[in-house]
Amino acid sequence: MNLLNRAHLKYRDGIPYFENPEIEKLGWVTHAFLTRRGGISLPPYDSLNLSFNNGDHEEVVSRNRRRIAAAFGFDPNRLILLKQMQRDGILIVKRPVGMIPSSLEYDALITDMADLFLGIRTADCIPILIVDRKRKAIAAIHAGRQGTAMHLTRRVLRKMKEAFGSSMNDLLIISGPSIGPCCYEIDEKVFQKEWEPFAISNGAKRWRLDLAQTNLAQMRGEGIDEEQISRIDLCTRCHQDIFFSYRGEGQTGRQLSFIGIK
Ligand SMILES: [Zn+2]
Repeated sequence: MNLLNRAHLKYRDGIPYFENPEIEKLGWVTHAFLTRRGGISLPPYDSLNLSFNNGDHEEVVSRNRRRIAAAFGFDPNRLILLKQMQRDGILIVKRPVGMIPSSLEYDALITDMADLFLGIRTADCIPILIVDRKRKAIAAIHAGRQGTAMHLTRRVLRKMKEAFGSSMNDLLIISGPSIGPCCYEIDEKVFQKEWEPFAISNGAKRWRLDLAQTNLAQMRGEGIDEEQISRIDLCTRCHQDIFFSYRGEGQTGRQLSFIGIK
């Protein structure tokens, strides 16, 4: 697995971001994991907030969105933002059926259409981006605790196989910044038995969970090899200077991770 840290931060028009160099090298994909920096939102949404419904001003968020689109060279209206229901709904946008539903109550997207940018907004949950190098399809996943429990990542991989004929060997996957086991404590009401290998018990029916590892295990279970996976190995709560963290701050913004076929 290729681990990325703060030393890998890049900049475009003053906007810091992370990328998977192998995906960038393909040449036909635009993708980035943005941070909280480089936007115009005021505290507690400072500054590159992309959430329209957490109390920030709509016009300000729209300007952040346009600023990102300009920096990465795409039309802001081509950025699809899911409602992210904390469930396991997967939206497939497949040629030639180009109609996108108006209510996007999903937590993952898969497409092979060009000029469609799939955006995931997070503040502790994991954004995961996937590229099929051969079939030229892409996917974006919002994996929170509930989506992880519902095996959303595994289901997206199976859907890519089913809908686009993806072979697992052709995929490149990058798992973005999320809350780490250092900061993510859960109780027995939500703990899943199958998470035991990725959780540290504190002995009082509470566990510190490595949410990213549970998703990586779902990938490995579908036949994804270590060398196909990259991980931005930064805890959002520990690095609140560059990331929004819901657990760390409560009322705060959401950072954007996106991927699109040029
Ligand atoms: Zn932490």
